[in-house]
Amino acid sequence: MMNKARSILKEYFGYDDFRKGQDEIIQLLLNKENVVGIMPTGGGKSICYQIPAMLFPGLTVVISPLISLMKDQVDALTEVGIPATFINSTLHNEEVQERVYNIKNGHYKLLYIAPERLEADYFMDILKEVTISFIAVDEAHCISQWGHDFRPSYAKIGHMINKLSEMPLVAALTATATPKVHEDICQLLNIPWENTVKTGFARDNLSFSIIKGQDKGKFLESFLKKNREESGIIYASTRQEVEKLYDRLLKKGYSVSKYHGGMSDLQRETEQQAFIKDDVSIMIATNAFGMGIDKSNIRYVIHYQLPKNMEGYYQEAGRAGRDGLPSKCILLYSAQDIRIQRFLIDQTIHDADKQKQDIDKLQSIINFCHTEDCLQEYILHYFGEEHTEKCGQCSNCTDERNVIDVTVDTQKVLSCMIRMGERFGKTMIAQVLTGSKNKKLMDFHLDRIKTYGLMKEQSAKEISDFIEFLISEQYIDVSSGAMPILKVSKKGKEVLLGRLTVERKEQVVTVKVSENNALFEYLRGIRKQLAEAENVPPFVVFSDQTLRNISMTM
Ligand code: ADP
Ligand code: MG
Ligand code: ZN
Repeated sequence: MMNKARSILKEYFGYDDFRKGQDEIIQLLLNKENVVGIMPTGGGKSICYQIPAMLFPGLTVVISPLISLMKDQVDALTEVGIPATFINSTLHNEEVQERVYNIKNGHYKLLYIAPERLEADYFMDILKEVTISFIAVDEAHCISQWGHDFRPSYAKIGHMINKLSEMPLVAALTATATPKVHEDICQLLNIPWENTVKTGFARDNLSFSIIKGQDKGKFLESFLKKNREESGIIYASTRQEVEKLYDRLLKKGYSVSKYHGGMSDLQRETEQQAFIKDDVSIMIATNAFGMGIDKSNIRYVIHYQLPKNMEGYYQEAGRAGRDGLPSKCILLYSAQDIRIQRFLIDQTIHDADKQKQDIDKLQSIINFCHTEDCLQEYILHYFGEEHTEKCGQCSNCTDERNVIDVTVDTQKVLSCMIRMGERFGKTMIAQVLTGSKNKKLMDFHLDRIKTYGLMKEQSAKEISDFIEFLISEQYIDVSSGAMPILKVSKKGKEVLLGRLTVERKEQVVTVKVSENNALFEYLRGIRKQLAEAENVPPFVVFSDQTLRNISMTM
């Protein structure tokens, strides 16, 4: 049978070899075993059910969340000579009747439907009349409340297929591998846990970067200037932001499309096609864009704002480089973006569990932005992979700044938190440490505590960043309530007890130098000594350590 599978791969799809995991999934199905396949976006999940569909005698029903993509998938199959069809709400009644007639006559190998259709009695009656080889549940993470695209009708799939005369085989496919989602998929679709085929999530051709503390607009423009010819996606969090970026780049003469939920179906379809067919090179979109999109030559994915969680982020970023060529995934981080995501989460106040979970997930991606470890490894660990290696190409792996000891600063922050009774969030702690005169702080008499002004040589923003770093490295725990409260973690306590040291990359700060200020004089002094130009630039980039040295010399 596997030989047959291989010849279909060659004959219909034109590929010589299976990719990692594909043959295993196909083999399990051919052995009549339910299977869950977890492969990254672009890993080639479709073939895992399309080839067995050709090998089994009956009909394979593919459950897919997006109506808009069914036609493309069916067209692609039909083109290579695989009889396939879809039934969804875009069809007229006569078309549905015709397709149903053909289904009953065994005309098709694959039928694509949305999960909601299984809830219609008439449709279940049709399915009961035909021989079903197996049910393929694509984007199976939609089944779980822990997934990022939960669809209630997905959760009912297991129950509905139980009603069929003969319990069919099930193949579930997804790119989301968090343990909770995985568990739900197995349980709700009756798949034995050991029938899991999980390929590595590492995508070696992707280089991840987090860009912090830069003007996003300027970064974007200089990036696009250098990559004018390339195809790429820019994700923004809101429709307004998409429109704004679109207008701006259009004015600058870039070839752009846009995509968001506020546009009509027709508009979206047109813009999407233009991008897929390479008529335009840049797609600016909200996260509504991209699920199931098969465009192989996307050279970069830029997140203009913080995505709401790691699952969404990796799925979106993973759309780059499906052809295996080097591609960039760039996240432009600014702490202010956290507020947008928090605001969106706060709208779901009626569902406290969901809210708590969303806040935890948001924290994971904030940590991602602040970690100094390999970004690829962070992603892999998040998705449950244990044995990983540094990628050597992400913005952290290639960061050559010096590592400095920040144990004392860490102790200052942690002891301040303890003195404040571990009842406050990041902003208040940072303000106490800088010695802010903020009214709220005075109202709580926080200026009386011993650590008030203990780090006054730093700005509140620098301390906030440092606190985010300590959170990402788990020296500090964050509660997931509506107002996140910081607590010293177990690991943090070890630092306070002097049993653990903390290291961090040297921070770079930009300082505005105005004339007649001590710093200006100091710099001029250095310039003179070096017998260089007289002019001192208005902005100078210093490392933390240099600044400390300067202030000591002064
Ligand atoms: P996924 O659903 O996992 O995101 P797709 O099934 O859409 O991925 O496949 C992604 C791309 O990989 C498609 O262009 C597909 O044709 C290609 N592909 C799939 N299997 C193979 C293979 N064995 N060899 C080469 N390319 C493949
Ligand atoms: Mg897919
Ligand atoms: Zn790395």
